[in-house]
Amino acid sequence: MAKPILVANWKNHPGSLAEAKALLKGLSKEARLYKNLSLFIAPPAPYLELAALKARNFARLACQDMAAFSQGTYTAMLTPDILKSLGVRLAIIGHSERRALGETSAQVVDKVKVALRAGIVPLVCIGEQARDVDGEHFDILREELKSSLSGLNAKTARGIIIAYEPVWVIGKSAKDALPPAELAQTVIFLKKQLSDLYGRSVAESIPILYGGAVEPENAGALMRETYIKGFLVGHASLKPESFKSIAESLLTKI
Ligand code: PEP
Repeated sequence: MAKPILVANWKNHPGSLAEAKALLKGLSKEARLYKNLSLFIAPPAPYLELAALKARNFARLACQDMAAFSQGTYTAMLTPDILKSLGVRLAIIGHSERRALGETSAQVVDKVKVALRAGIVPLVCIGEQARDVDGEHFDILREELKSSLSGLNAKTARGIIIAYEPVWVIGKSAKDALPPAELAQTVIFLKKQLSDLYGRSVAESIPILYGGAVEPENAGALMRETYIKGFLVGHASLKPESFKSIAESLLTKI
């Protein structure tokens, strides 16, 4: 059975190289635990080289975004050749915080294609802004999923991972998070959409991760009672003790 997937999205934290070093040191104390997972750390880009060095025994590197182009001259863009040379293996693409800054699903698709061509696994983020009792968020999710994968055929779709992150939950604490039963329902819905797009066998090969207020308090139930293959973790990934506990929760399911 494939290892559970755990992705740490550090966002724009910690605030200095010295703190990043300390965080990596804290995480490295649990290297034996993390080897049982498919663990990816997505630090701010200036810390990638440090993370490559300090986490080489227990994690692989991820980036939080990437350029939508592989050729050409683009100020400030992280092109796949640079990312690959640093050892990046996975790219978070279409995070809601990037979409809130104007990133469109068309740009997400371009980035997904660039990543796939470069041999970087795209972790495609989708999520609704809010939920309502009429279930309109399902229509929104369907559209966002379809438009973020537009033009991808079944063969290439096998290379992606989906992160379902309800936007209204991100950054909250476990007590305000999505209840496991609602997550289970949403994961089934997403699997059905993927199956409609690519067929059942491809849909089953695409891991769906969950992200949004995953903390030690809710990680166990979210993993046990749903159909996810792992987590994308924001704020709790900055605390080695919390992150360790989340990793343990992922492993109790198998
Ligand atoms: C995220 O923004 O990807 C995320 C999962 O954040 P948090 O865990 O802080 O809710």
